[in-house]
Amino acid sequence: MSALLADLRRKATQRRVMYEDADWRCRKCHERCPERMDALPGQRFLTLDHVVPRSAGGPSEAWNLAVLCDQCNHDKGSKHDLSVWEGHPPWQYYAWQARMRARTLVAA
Ligand SMILES: [Zn+2]
Repeated sequence: MSALLADLRRKATQRRVMYEDADWRCRKCHERCPERMDALPGQRFLTLDHVVPRSAGGPSEAWNLAVLCDQCNHDKGSKHDLSVWEGHPPWQYYAWQARMRARTLVAA
């Protein structure tokens, strides 16, 4: 198997593990949705959303990914919406913030 194919397969598995973990429900509207490839036309499907948007430097690590249906993900857009953590961001979030702050200090 090519490295690219192996990488794609690994990512697909990771995604499915996170959907499984979320009981195939959107974190916002709690609707049960299938994977994109299993969705019927017009049916909502699950996506992985960057809680801290990529545009703000949010990493593609498990702590920063939330299972949202495509509709809720679309409504959220690139807003900085931490509400999926319900006031309890994971420790990795604070570590990331500290790293970002250190980087800003170095750049200044
Ligand atoms: Zn939703």
